[in-house]
Amino acid sequence: MNLHEYQAKELLARFGTRVQRGYVASTADEAVEAALRLQQETGTSVWVVKAQIHAGGRGKGTIEGTDQRGVSLAKTLDEVRRIAAAMLGKRLITLQTGPVGKIVHKVFVAEDAYKPGPGQPQEFYISVLLDRQRSRNVIVYSPQGGVNIEEVAEKTPHLIFREWIDPAVGLQPFQGRRVAFNLGLSGEAFKNMTAFLSALYKAYMGLDASLIEINPALKAADGSVIAVDAKVALDDNALPRHPELAALRDILEEDPMEVEAARHHLNFIKLDGNVGCMVNGAGLAMATMDMIKLSGGQPANFLDVGGTADAKRVEEAFRIILQDPNVRAILVNIFGGIVRCDRVAQGIVDAYRNIGHIPVPIIVRLQGTNAEEAKKIIEESGLRVLAATELEEAARKVQEVLAQKVA
Ligand code: GDP
Ligand code: MG
Repeated sequence: MNLHEYQAKELLARFGTRVQRGYVASTADEAVEAALRLQQETGTSVWVVKAQIHAGGRGKGTIEGTDQRGVSLAKTLDEVRRIAAAMLGKRLITLQTGPVGKIVHKVFVAEDAYKPGPGQPQEFYISVLLDRQRSRNVIVYSPQGGVNIEEVAEKTPHLIFREWIDPAVGLQPFQGRRVAFNLGLSGEAFKNMTAFLSALYKAYMGLDASLIEINPALKAADGSVIAVDAKVALDDNALPRHPELAALRDILEEDPMEVEAARHHLNFIKLDGNVGCMVNGAGLAMATMDMIKLSGGQPANFLDVGGTADAKRVEEAFRIILQDPNVRAILVNIFGGIVRCDRVAQGIVDAYRNIGHIPVPIIVRLQGTNAEEAKKIIEESGLRVLAATELEEAARKVQEVLAQKVA
């Protein structure tokens, strides 16, 4: 589960990470109020207004049809109002959102973190995540942080460093010092960086996060180290033990089909192909998606209906798949182990009748216990359902259906 920048910053601050100070706003009036409050609290008279969407690249992205960026400096309260109004309710298009963009429902109004001082502000990249190959958490960092980090990784990979953390002892002080040293810091900024890293790692562990990415982490002109941006992804499997974090979910940012599927406890991921799939078991679902690709189609989704593929679940799954206008055919691939194929087949027939009209052909491959009986039920139902027992047979039928361009 992903968090918004403003939520991430609030959580990180609780663990002692220094973050750019700011408030979230849903209207232009609230944005001005937030700016005034910051002025009273910190004396700032320069603000940054940042669109809150679950995607990065906002600084380079633009609001649809305008040249308004997703991160913008304001030097007056009027400018804060104008920028907030230009963002709110509009689509922000960044490299990460794709061409349709994402609607901005909230903005974060913060004090300018780059204000002048004795030193030069410097942008670093710092993230904490799990390195699955080494079974260890790792801090990935670079002295060349900021909006061009992808280019740094591609053209100068030697400027991306890694510090692996032993799970038995956690982040050790010498490791924090090594990171600060490699970032080229000294004096107060060096100390501030080691404290920053230690708080960040505490947050990563304490939140059961799967990723914390701070880009940029800023060495401000006064030598303090602060998170100017913050991306936090929480481990979904740990959410049951953090109800207060689970409550931070913003379903407006998520795919409506996935939200609907989650309500029915279906493991569903929306993809952009044309063949809907309904499968029991994650491994079989992956294999089915491969098979669809090999037969010339593109999977429209990943869907694992789980062990209990009863009529009700099958019906819910059909309804969700059918919400996708790109779907040209549906492939049902069920292995009857504990669940008997004839019961699943009956479920499909019942679901079909309940839904009334399914505008695309369905190819059903049922294998395992009572597969032959299942095939018979499907064939005798008189419905527009093509039955198969072998995987190749199912693949061929998918191919034929796509070639006919049956709508
Ligand atoms: P992203 O583009 O979605 O990653 O958004 P960021 O929060 O990283 O902001 C993008 C860029 O905007 C940063 O790399 C900074 O260069 C700039 N920026 C962000 N906050 C401030 C700020 O407070 N003051 C100034 N001057 N620039 C900022
Ligand atoms: Mg950023």
